Amino acid sequence: MNLNTTNASADRPHAVIIGGGFAGAGAAWELTRHGVKPICLEAERRSGGLAGSFEVNGERLEKFYHHWFTNDAHVG
Ligand SMILES: Cc1cc2nc3c(=O)[nH]c(=O)nc-3n(C[C@H](O)[C@H](O)[C@H](O)COP(=O)(O)OP(=O)(O)OC[C@H]3O[C@@H](n4cnc5c(N)ncnc54)[C@H](O)[C@@H]3O)c2cc1C
Repeated sequence: MNLNTTNASADRPHAVIIGGGFAGAGAAWELTRHGVKPICLEAERRSGGLAGSFEVNGERLEKFYHHWFTNDAHVG
């Protein structure tokens, strides 16, 4: 698959990604690996999406908490 465009200037983005969550970050990573320069547009002030965080008293907390149960044997 050739993701390079022939008429795009080298100093301009070659692809636009909407959303800076994992999917957007993953797409940006893959595009970069293929020599395409992406730009990622995120609606929120910070990227991360569902996996993002916010600040409380100078510390960063996850937006959603993760919970592991003692019977999650496959995790340990
Ligand atoms: C509590 C919790 C625990 C989880 N644990 C795991 C885990 O252990 N392992 C795992 O693999 N997954 C886990 N997940 C799921 C994982 O976090 C999500 O599947 C993943 O973050 C989704 O990423 P995404 O990029 O698809 O979507 P999102 O994270 O929703 O990102 C989409 C982004 O696009 C932006 N956006 C939307 N519309 C626009 C627009 N029009 N213009 C600009 N920006 C826009 C949004 O603001 C957002 O930042 C967990 C999720 C939660 C909530």
